[in-house]
Amino acid sequence: MIMEKHDGFMKALKCRECGREYPLAATHVCEFDFGPLEVAYDYDRIKKSLTRAAIESRPQTMWRYRELLPIAGAPTVGCQVGFTPLVKADRLAKRLGIRELWVKNDAVNYPTLSFKDRVVSVALSRSKELGFKTVACASTGNLANSVAANAAAAGLKSFVFIPSDLEQGKVINSLVYGANVISIKGHYDEVNRLCAEIAGKFGWAFVNVNMRPYYAEGSKSMGFEILEQLGWRIPQHTVVPMASGSLLTKIHKSYQEFVKIGLVRDAKYHVHGAQPTGCNPISAAQKAGLDFFKPVKPNTIAKSLAIGTPADGFYALKVMKETGASAEDVTDDEVREGIRLLAECEGIFAETAGGVTVGVAKKLIASGRIPANDSVVLCVTGNGLKTLDAVAGHVGRTRDIKPSLREFEALINSEAELAAAI
Ligand SMILES: *Cc1c(COP(=O)(O)O)cnc(C)c1O
Ligand SMILES: [Zn+2]
Repeated sequence: MIMEKHDGFMKALKCRECGREYPLAATHVCEFDFGPLEVAYDYDRIKKSLTRAAIESRPQTMWRYRELLPIAGAPTVGCQVGFTPLVKADRLAKRLGIRELWVKNDAVNYPTLSFKDRVVSVALSRSKELGFKTVACASTGNLANSVAANAAAAGLKSFVFIPSDLEQGKVINSLVYGANVISIKGHYDEVNRLCAEIAGKFGWAFVNVNMRPYYAEGSKSMGFEILEQLGWRIPQHTVVPMASGSLLTKIHKSYQEFVKIGLVRDAKYHVHGAQPTGCNPISAAQKAGLDFFKPVKPNTIAKSLAIGTPADGFYALKVMKETGASAEDVTDDEVREGIRLLAECEGIFAETAGGVTVGVAKKLIASGRIPANDSVVLCVTGNGLKTLDAVAGHVGRTRDIKPSLREFEALINSEAELAAAI
């Protein structure tokens, strides 16, 4: 008797360059051309199982789309992740001069307040299926937080590797869960290079090295949710922050998959990329009309996006070209302004990457690359409480008084701005 292999809805790992297929193991590059491997699915079977009615009957987490996520059985890590709010941002829309604007708010993702909880829950669930006991990652901060937290909850051991100049908030947010935090004197790209060597030597599940094909697929859930929460339609524009460029490519893939299995009607859309000017290899290439990026040395307050040699930069450029989209970048001051705009208009405190996204959207709208009559979704991917250092000293000041009514009245009378607020 032939035992049927149980791989859920996955068929194989497949090279993005030559199409060669590989078993569904912890491996990420093609042996022939070093192309990245990607999960291939059985879309015919998925189409029968993943209907709108089926999705709507399931719990409100990212796992309601589980046929399109790369695990064989039921999820075992991060079962509560996702289904973050899609906020209609009318006040911000007015400020930016756009008709229809939405904020996909992954600043409140569970449990570590960034979109990385999506990719980590997939990577760790798959790691457990493959029998790993120790998980690891190379991180610009948020990934370290999420691996540390989710590994703790799953009873896995974890090693997280970070550049030594990270924000305090993100360092403490990894240490508190008892993870082994290795801080490396160097940029993320050097951390990543070291991790590739370590991954080859130790038998760990490195979420963004040997587990990358599974890990990266988790990002699609952000796109699936956007389409469902918009009432099963594709927004004309989506603005996505880029570090490695992976999230941008997976938002595009999520829209294509929902079209392919008939959950949304096909429509023209643009997936725009956002970077900080201090680390803009992908946006610089897009603006110059190039298909390849030139690596840069990062120098920006948007540390979560500070990847000078982006692994998926080439594919992100391709997606922008295919969807007729643009990339832009913004200075550190514009990042802070973006954070303030979002906070003051919508009551959402995003981290620096969110400031990048808002700042870039503002530029794209002002220049007409996003027309004023179109619909736009901004992907806000991380929480401002983790990058307080970036805005401290740039967000106004407290007025300090003694606990006396007289002092308060004197203060009001001495400042026109306060008097006007009464
Ligand atoms: C990791 C990260 C991104 C983008 O990551 P990609 O490598 O491009 O997929 C965006 N925003 C935040 C806050 C992140 O932590
Ligand atoms: Zn290949």
